Amino acid sequence: MKIVHYPHPALRHVAKPLTAIDAEVRRYARQMLDLMYAAKGLGLAAPQVALPYQLLVLNYTGDPTRKEDECVAINPVLVEKKGGTQDGQEGCLSFPDLYQNVKRAKTVVVRAYDLEGQLFEVTASDLAARLWQHEIDHLHGILYIDKMGLLGKRAAKPFLEEFEARYRKAQQRGEIPSDD
Ligand code: ZN
Repeated sequence: MKIVHYPHPALRHVAKPLTAIDAEVRRYARQMLDLMYAAKGLGLAAPQVALPYQLLVLNYTGDPTRKEDECVAINPVLVEKKGGTQDGQEGCLSFPDLYQNVKRAKTVVVRAYDLEGQLFEVTASDLAARLWQHEIDHLHGILYIDKMGLLGKRAAKPFLEEFEARYRKAQQRGEIPSDD
């Protein structure tokens, strides 16, 4: 398992709901958490490791020792947005070094299943709310570059061109399969 970078097509796939939580799903979640911490990220969604499932992991502290802040969410649904909007910098492990402002809801209510198959509901604000919105978007093939304002999109353009050039080179070297 490894984190795929833009423009890998898996990032645009719409993830499927998981219908069972078995040992394989638990292993995926563990591996995703390990990758997330190693990359110094706060969240990681399954399409970012080219898995087509509605599964995401996050820890808004980014601190692997703070297990109490660690969260694995299966089939998460954003049930409510409230408290107006917040504007702040956002990054993504699939877009190394690209940080731009993205407008998000200030507070969200999310419903999801945990690894024990228990339904849970969480109300998150500020950074944690931003994280949930960013990661749930990934499960629907939506990326933060889609949500940047005009200036952010303009500033992101050279980064995206660089990512695209890097991707094509990796394909030419045979490290990534061709588009066919
Ligand atoms: Zn992301």
